[in-house]
Amino acid sequence: MKILIVEDETKIGDYLKQGLSEAGFVTDLARNGLDGHHFAMTEPYDLIILDVMLPDVDGWRILQSLREAGKMVPVLFLTARDSVEDRVKGLELGADDYLVKPFAFAELLARVRTLLRRGATVVTETTLRIADLELDLMRRRVTRGSQRITLTAKEFSLLELLMRRQGEVLPRSLIASQVWDMNFDSDTNVIDVAIRRVRAKIDDGFEPRLIHTVRGMGYMLDVSDDD
Ligand code: CA
Repeated sequence: MKILIVEDETKIGDYLKQGLSEAGFVTDLARNGLDGHHFAMTEPYDLIILDVMLPDVDGWRILQSLREAGKMVPVLFLTARDSVEDRVKGLELGADDYLVKPFAFAELLARVRTLLRRGATVVTETTLRIADLELDLMRRRVTRGSQRITLTAKEFSLLELLMRRQGEVLPRSLIASQVWDMNFDSDTNVIDVAIRRVRAKIDDGFEPRLIHTVRGMGYMLDVSDDD
């Protein structure tokens, strides 16, 4: 796994490079935006750790340029400014996660590992599968066995999330933030209703049942048949 670090502060850059190397990653360190941009555009990386405030080309412009060039490598933003606007801007431009400085290395490492795991499925797969259920991300098409299933846009997003995280119990709060862009305080009944509809479409009349309710915790997509 190869990681690019773009960080102009010498101490932080060295610290990240050393820590990630010790954790078993191959790393390149760019100490300014121009070098960082050049590396990111020309070398293949599994992840980029990108400082926002750089003296020449800032992290936002680098990220924007990468995404415009169709490079979907996961990007973890490092920002010193803990303002909501900064985080929103980064995520809107296509950052996958952000970390506010100062941060603990253990926290960074945990985020890096999560992004790498997620990246592995996002980048290489355009079709998600579980049992005989298939979700074609490019054509936005869902089939179970030989049967075509019609989902609304929200139902599709919901099923996509469940399939990407199959075997994991997803709390309603997570589903709410990922699919509806809302907080847990909002009406979570919306989620239960949507789950019921998706379940009726993909599970009714099929074996095994795939969507499971984990009482008091949330929902899970899995082939195990205990509900
Ligand atoms: Ca900086």
